[in-house]
This record gives sequence, C-alpha cells and structure tokens, in this order.
Amino acid sequence: MPAVYNWQIGRSMGYPHEERHPRWQFAFVFNTNRCIGCQTCTMACKSTWTFSKGQELMWWNNVESKPYGGYPQHWDAKLLAMLDEANPGKQAWDASQNEPEQRPYGVFEGMTIFDAAEQKPRPDGMQQALGYLPTDDEWRSPNIHEDTPTSDRVAQEGQFGGSTELPEHKVWCFYLARICNHCTYPACLACCPRNAIYKRPEDGVVLIDQSRCRGYRKCVEGCPYKKAMYRPTTRTSEKCVACFPRLEGKDPSISPTGAPAETRCMSACVGKIRLQGLVEIDEDGTWAKDPKNPLYYLIRERKIALPLYPQFGTEPNGFYIPPRWVPRGYLTQMFGPGVEHAIEQYSCPDRELLAVLQLFRANRQIVFRFEIERGPKIGEIEVTMPDETTRTQELFNDTVIGFNKLGEEVVRVTVEEPTFERPAESHVNSI
Ligand code: SF4
Ligand code: SF4
Repeated sequence: MPAVYNWQIGRSMGYPHEERHPRWQFAFVFNTNRCIGCQTCTMACKSTWTFSKGQELMWWNNVESKPYGGYPQHWDAKLLAMLDEANPGKQAWDASQNEPEQRPYGVFEGMTIFDAAEQKPRPDGMQQALGYLPTDDEWRSPNIHEDTPTSDRVAQEGQFGGSTELPEHKVWCFYLARICNHCTYPACLACCPRNAIYKRPEDGVVLIDQSRCRGYRKCVEGCPYKKAMYRPTTRTSEKCVACFPRLEGKDPSISPTGAPAETRCMSACVGKIRLQGLVEIDEDGTWAKDPKNPLYYLIRERKIALPLYPQFGTEPNGFYIPPRWVPRGYLTQMFGPGVEHAIEQYSCPDRELLAVLQLFRANRQIVFRFEIERGPKIGEIEVTMPDETTRTQELFNDTVIGFNKLGEEVVRVTVEEPTFERPAESHVNSI
C-alpha cells in the first residue's frame, strides 16, 4: 500500500491510493455540550434527501445516545473490539510526541483499519480496510437506547473506570450527532471495487457515482463510521452528499451572491451546536494556516474540537467539543488524547474563544473569516474546572463579525444576548 501522512494520528500509514488532496476541505465542529437530542437535524436531512422508497431506514444524519446507543447498533464497539483482536492490548497513543502542526495529539502507535486489513488479508483478497457488514436488525432502530444513562458503578467496574465524581457526573449519557465525515482517506472509497466513489477536488466532499455503483456494499463494510448505506430498491449504496448544491452557493434564497451555504442539518440545528465550513488545504495535505477561519481556529489553533475515533485512520473531517461531564477514559477512547486540553479550554474560555463560539448557528452562509470588536466588561463568574479547582471567568460584551467567501459581512453577534421588551400597550397579547 502507498504511504500517506495522517496528521490526526501523527504518522504515515498505508492507504490503498496515492496521497492526493483537495483544494478546500468540507469540515465541521459539533459541540456535544449543547446538543439536546431533538433530532431536528436528522429530520432536516431526511426530508431533503432520504424520503423515498428504499430509504426508510437510511439516516444520513443521526443522533445517538452514548454510551449505549448507536446507528447501526454497536457500530463503534464492534469495530474497536475487532481492532483490539487484531492488535491485542497495543491500540495505544503516545501523547508525549506531540507537535502543533504535524502531530497535535501525539502519535497513535496501534493499528488503523488499513493496517489491520493488510496484516490479515481475507481469503477473497477483497478487503482494503478492517470492517464488517451490519445485519438488517442493526439498522432497524436508529435511536435505540435513547436517553439511557450509565452510572459510576458501571464505569468503575468496566473498562472506563476512574472517577465519575463532580465535575464529571455520577450518572451520564450524551448525544452524539453524526454525519459522514468526508474523510481525507475515506475507507468507503478505498474499499469500492468499482471505483464508484470519489472525493471532489474542489471541496473534499466524498460522493458515490450512482451510475457506477453495483451495490456490492464494500463501502458499507469498510466505512468505520457506517455512513455508507445500502438501498435495496435501486441496489446501490448511498451516503451523505454534504448538501453540495448549497456548498456551491446554488440556492439563491440563502446565497443571493452565490456564496457557499451550510448544509441542511447544520442550518436546522436548534441547540446551536453546529458550525460547518471549508478549510484550505496545501498541496502536501496540511491545513493552510488561517487562524481567522473559525474552523481552523477551533480545531488547529485552540484544539478545542477533536476528531471522532481518529485511531481508525481515515482522518475524519468532523470534529467534536467533548462533553464535560463524561468520564475521561471513555472520551479519550472516542476522541483521542486531546480530551483534557479541549475540556479545560471549553470550561473557562478566554474572551476570544468565547466570541468565536457565538458563531455557531448565527448564520446560514459559511463563515470563512471572523473579526472581533472589543466591548466592555460585563461581569465575572466562578467556574469549576475539570481538576475541581475554581477559576474566575471575566465576561466581555465583544462582538464577533463573520464574512463569507466573497468577503461580505454576513453576521454580527454579541457575547451578551440582547433582550427586547415589547411595549405592553401596543400588543394585545402582552401580559
Ligand atoms: S465517514 Fe465513511 S462514508 Fe464518509 S467519507 Fe469517511 S469512510 Fe466514507
Ligand atoms: S438539531 Fe442540533 S441540538 Fe438537535 S439533535 Fe441535531 S445536533 Fe443536536
């Protein structure tokens, strides 16, 4: 297999295709601390793309209750177990070897799904990535175990032992919203024997060419996130298309000047947990330095948002601000060794970070650049940090301003949410 560089695991790895990179990459940040599990994003996607026959159980966007929920059921636990079986006890990180650009989370010393497949080739020679095909039953209940928490007793006895005292909760669950990660090294693409899957050079979006697909389901088997899905009525596989017409600025009601807009699931998010955008990629695959791009700022500068299961090796472009109340062992397995740092940043954000966090769901056009106008100090609050010390957070009413791809100002938000009182005499329904 050719060697490619994966910055999320901090090392080169084998991948079935030569290293090539798009000019821009679709990416997103989800703040799990804010998700309320309302499934508005899920329905926004379904009513746009997957409402037809044969797509009944197809949820390109889903929100699952962790730790027990999963769509398909147990997708991550199953693959983690398979990887551990392939490389017993050695699926570990060396976080000490971190370096900001090339390996911000250190080095993953275990096996990716590509390494594991290469080490144990299947007799039919058809597997490029370690994976499995979920059963029909596993796809049937997209929101199984909704709101089912786990407790400190389970955590102490199980693999994720350790403290679940405050500031982590004794009983916990959290909502994990998921879409296709439009990975840098997509396993779905690597596994397709028909070369029907491609990654667009202009935005890194991964698509399935329906005219080439023959429904062998190798992508379903190979995608570690199980975000390629089979449609029995057409006998082809389908997946999230990143609402590419919106990315291209083709919706005149949202993008009158043709500037890129965020996807449906992002725009619809009630909890304001989602921020989506495009990051510029250098020829060698590194992210072009752009600290005024909100995604670059949150992911690369502040490292507050982390990739989902980076150890799988596909270099996913979906990033998560981890939930503060969940035992760290569980989170570290899910998001890698950057968890402590990310939670510390989020627990007591400085004024710049707090301003940038206001951009979540403030506007439907993609923000390519932000600026901050400083405002007056408006208060102080005491914050409990992850190590249970307290810190004083100063609050300033700064204004964050977002600009679209054309450099037009598209949003302006203050840290303090303005309130408006309606004059009672002019509204008959005022109380
Ligand atoms: S998440 Fe899965 S379907 Fe999406 S690009 Fe990555 S490997 Fe392919
Ligand atoms: S719409 Fe937003 S808050 Fe609601 S479930 Fe989806 S991601 Fe979570």
